[in-house]
Amino acid sequence: TSFGFQQVKEEEKSKLVGNVFTNVASSYDIMNDVMSGGLHRLWKERLVGKLSPFAGMKHLDVAGGTGDVAFRIFDALNSVNRRPLHKASLEETQIYVCDINPNMLNVGKQRAAERGLRDNKSLLWVEGDAEALSFDDNSMDGYTIAFGIRNVTHIEKALAQAYRYDLYSFQVIPNLGELIAGDRESYQYLVESVRRFPPQERFASMIGEAGFEKVEYENLVGGVVAIHSAIKL
Ligand code: SAM
Repeated sequence: TSFGFQQVKEEEKSKLVGNVFTNVASSYDIMNDVMSGGLHRLWKERLVGKLSPFAGMKHLDVAGGTGDVAFRIFDALNSVNRRPLHKASLEETQIYVCDINPNMLNVGKQRAAERGLRDNKSLLWVEGDAEALSFDDNSMDGYTIAFGIRNVTHIEKALAQAYRYDLYSFQVIPNLGELIAGDRESYQYLVESVRRFPPQERFASMIGEAGFEKVEYENLVGGVVAIHSAIKL
């Protein structure tokens, strides 16, 4: 099968995205390292740095996949270098990993178990679509979506969903541009989705149009990757 993106009807996109990530779930973490030369680790660190997570926060990581961003937020909050915090408020922290693909979430849960965090109450794994999230309005302090917004069929709908939350911080890493050099069929769709994603300025405008303020973006490695951030006042 070919994942020729142009021919794919919009309504088929979600299914296609599902198939792609089911195919790559088990090798996803390795693929990430290979495709970015390990740089995705630095970009995600940067993302979490900009997020400035705090103990007790309720955070939603959409398209959270295997939990990479969530683990980093968790580690940042539990790091010994941080000022002593009330243990109780740390334990109240809730980091939701939301992904449309249960296979990706399962790999994430497995990773949590390997870290001794299988039953940790701060990490919550939820199947869900970025375009139709089930969480209550104004129920989150932060929202991140890393390397996921480009997989969403209607970007505006995903942004409108993000805006439903009472955000202290909103962060997006949209692009993994030309670094995706894979010519294998399964990755063809991913390459196309990157090519079709709006450029930084346009995406920033879309975030503003969704109602967010203080929209900013930071280009990394000359714009191959960017971190967009905004707040909901
Ligand atoms: N955020 C993770 C990371 O940076 O390692 C995973 C990124 S992965 C490239 C994209 C993820 O988006 C996949 O796990 C896929 O299942 C998920 N995804 C695709 N469409 C989605 C949607 N509409 N809603 C929620 N998740 C979606």
